[in-house]
Amino acid sequence: MTTPFRLYDSLHRAKVPFTPLVAGKIGMYVCGPTTYAPAHIGHAYSAIAFDTVRRAVEFLGWDVNYVRNVTDIDDKIIKRANETGEDPFAMSARYSADYNRDMARFNVRPPTLEPKVTGHIPQIIALIERLVANGHAYVVDGDVYYEVGTFAPYGQLSGQTLDELVDGARVEVDERKKSPADFALWKSAKPNEPWWDSPWGKGRPGWHIECSAMTVTHLGATFDLHAGGKDLIFPHHENEIAQSQGADGIGTFARHWLHNGFLNFEGVKMSKSLGNVFNCDQIAEAVGGEALRFFCVSHHYRSPVDFDVDSECTVCLERAPHELLQTKSGLVNWIAKHAQSCGNGESTLRVRFSSLEGADRSLAKFYETLQRIDAFVSQGGDGGSGAVLPDAEKLAPDARAALADDFNAPVVVAALHAASTLANKLLDEGKGIDKAVRRRTIARLGKDLREVGAAIGVFTQDPAAYLAERRTRLVRLRKIDVAAVQGKLAERTAARTAKDFARADAIRGELAGLGVTIHDTPGGSDWSVQD
Ligand SMILES: [Zn+2]
Repeated sequence: MTTPFRLYDSLHRAKVPFTPLVAGKIGMYVCGPTTYAPAHIGHAYSAIAFDTVRRAVEFLGWDVNYVRNVTDIDDKIIKRANETGEDPFAMSARYSADYNRDMARFNVRPPTLEPKVTGHIPQIIALIERLVANGHAYVVDGDVYYEVGTFAPYGQLSGQTLDELVDGARVEVDERKKSPADFALWKSAKPNEPWWDSPWGKGRPGWHIECSAMTVTHLGATFDLHAGGKDLIFPHHENEIAQSQGADGIGTFARHWLHNGFLNFEGVKMSKSLGNVFNCDQIAEAVGGEALRFFCVSHHYRSPVDFDVDSECTVCLERAPHELLQTKSGLVNWIAKHAQSCGNGESTLRVRFSSLEGADRSLAKFYETLQRIDAFVSQGGDGGSGAVLPDAEKLAPDARAALADDFNAPVVVAALHAASTLANKLLDEGKGIDKAVRRRTIARLGKDLREVGAAIGVFTQDPAAYLAERRTRLVRLRKIDVAAVQGKLAERTAARTAKDFARADAIRGELAGLGVTIHDTPGGSDWSVQD
């Protein structure tokens, strides 16, 4: 059984019911990375958004064929490889593997299929030949251009006319082109560039043609869903439509379009020139991968997401004022001023992701709840079959309704919070509730928290393993002396055994001073890092 759903279709600029080509199935194409540098948080944000869409529709019962390409030959790759002296294909393969490793940290599952441009050169050439033959493309000295003026609906996705696009100076002027808006399908080889033989001489594909060739190869001339970042609407997706419909006819290609919003820092778009491009390693080290996932799904995929970044000195703990981080010179001035006041320069500064730290704390609370539920159920059973408290039955249907309404993950997160609060309340106290009903309700909440969590890509780890890894991370970041903590803990256990409770309490206080909280359980004492 599949649950029908609605999505905001960028082509129609409205929420529309999703209509599949084949009942119960979704063929989905996502524009993937160009692999010439380590993946940054902007890549992760987009990959998480569409992985969430995929998980959501699977939760709704659909069977998804998820195709995400890799652009493994492109101007940027060639430029970077020429700078470093590395083979462009080897470099691209390396960054592609790194990309998938990084995305796995954010619980982004591998696509069903991951086609690469270099594996589709014959299909790309065949498609360009068709566009030349039917008059949509022309050849100039070994280059092939798409003649945008031959495709009447051009501009429909971005909502601009051809004249507006040309006037907008967003297209480069090249005298060899019939119109400045015409774009390259095939580029003749320049010195020091990889090339393939073609009917137009040695060369390589332009950027946009690859997605038209790969979608028709793997999903057919018409398919269900095309997704990508908002920044790809023009020119990339506009050009994909012109190519594919130019070859296969109006009405073919993607039936629905999805685009996700931008990620901002302090209200400013991420950019290399501002120095606010953070790569996935930095994020994973600072807060762990799942916290970024949790942060992203707490926002709607179409809204621009803003998150806080602070620059903090690890010695004097001074933080750069937020507004300074919006310009490179502001930050540089602050660093110089800080160097005078603190005596330490740039070397002691570290970046803190305040809003991600909040997501990390929130996520840890969920894992603590799951751990409590697991312990409760394993000690006394799940209460067998029968009724549960009505409030515990709401989570799964509420999540289904929210996800069926344009993948509204933040509503799901709110429902997860409510379910977790209910579970903790029942774990704390069972007064006035039938014992078996209480057990069944707690067990049910544990199962549904995990199932609904998985639908948005969270709570996928073993709670004990997750919490242990988090503690290790916090110990490292806060420079906590674990040997000292364990020594104090042993001392406290000895004091308790000797019934010297005053001493035991004093040690608890000393550990609190080190940033550590003690938990006494029937199995002994354990500790965690204070939030
Ligand atoms: Zn694409």
